[in-house]
Amino acid sequence: KGSGRSTYRFYQTDMRLEAERRYQLTLELREALQRNEFELYYQPIIRLDNDGLSGFEALIRWHHPTRGLIAPAEFIPVAEETGMIVPIGDWVLREACRTARQWPGDLKIAINLSVYQFRHASLLATVVSVLDETGLLPERLEIEVTESVLLSEVEQSLSLLRALKELGIRIAIDDFGTGYSSLSYLRSFSFDKIKLDRSFVAGMETDPGNLAIVRAVVGIASGFNAVTLAEGIETEEQLAKLRAEGYSEVQGFLLGRPMRREEAEARIFSEIYPAKALRARKPAHG
Ligand code: C2E
Ligand code: MG
Ligand code: MG
Ligand code: MG
Repeated sequence: KGSGRSTYRFYQTDMRLEAERRYQLTLELREALQRNEFELYYQPIIRLDNDGLSGFEALIRWHHPTRGLIAPAEFIPVAEETGMIVPIGDWVLREACRTARQWPGDLKIAINLSVYQFRHASLLATVVSVLDETGLLPERLEIEVTESVLLSEVEQSLSLLRALKELGIRIAIDDFGTGYSSLSYLRSFSFDKIKLDRSFVAGMETDPGNLAIVRAVVGIASGFNAVTLAEGIETEEQLAKLRAEGYSEVQGFLLGRPMRREEAEARIFSEIYPAKALRARKPAHG
């Protein structure tokens, strides 16, 4: 009996601390934008037809003044609950487009949009003005959404997706296979890319069910003329397997972790001028 009660009290304290922490985070998020505490990291996306760079996915990080680097999983949900996701999302879009505008060739930039941003009426106008202001070709911008975007307010979401696509922007489904939606939504909008969630890649070698899904997604995507991308590649074995299964693009720690802008640009440079980059990397002596 006694232990039950103290467990309960412990639990209550736990919840109170959690609520306080969230409240604190909310206040801090408001200030973080003004203080310039957000940074975009860029993770390479590799195309398997020529093993070259296709582009990068922008992933937000928060340099908290006292708690150090905070991952999005920790603050995006709070930002969504409090509406702060809208100004933060606008910042991400602008920063990512401004950065990618400087990149050579047709390198692409992918950004994540949360369903909350999608519900906000200003999104389309913001995208149009950011493209205009930065001069980035819409064909080089890719917007990643999860299946949850089509779980409610379907008509509104579809018309927004169509309007974005009309501008020339590419639309990808992120974390494919992990949502609760049925596959029927695939018929209502023609997505440009399907990003297979990394949990299927991780389980592929040990679980035949995962492998079956990895394969099925290639079939589905080809029927819809969508590009396939497999997320979370960590080993050479996984890379070889996904290549053999016919995936068009891959992303994961094996091919590059999310990195700072300068590092991403060094990678672009070394890809375009491999010989020069090699020389630049050599120590001055010898
Ligand atoms: P996501 O869009 O699915 O991004 C991929 C996540 O998987 C990233 O985590 C990335 O670091 C991680 N990852 C990539 N390769 C590997 C791998 O080989 N192994 C493992 N274990 N992980 C890998 P990150 O950066 O912590 O982002 C987590 C999620 O937060 C993202 O998932 C996305 O949903 C959200 N997010 C990130 N940036 C933004 C943003 O600017 N706006 C919004 N709305 N959401 C964002
Ligand atoms: Mg993503
Ligand atoms: Mg993902
Ligand atoms: Mg995700």
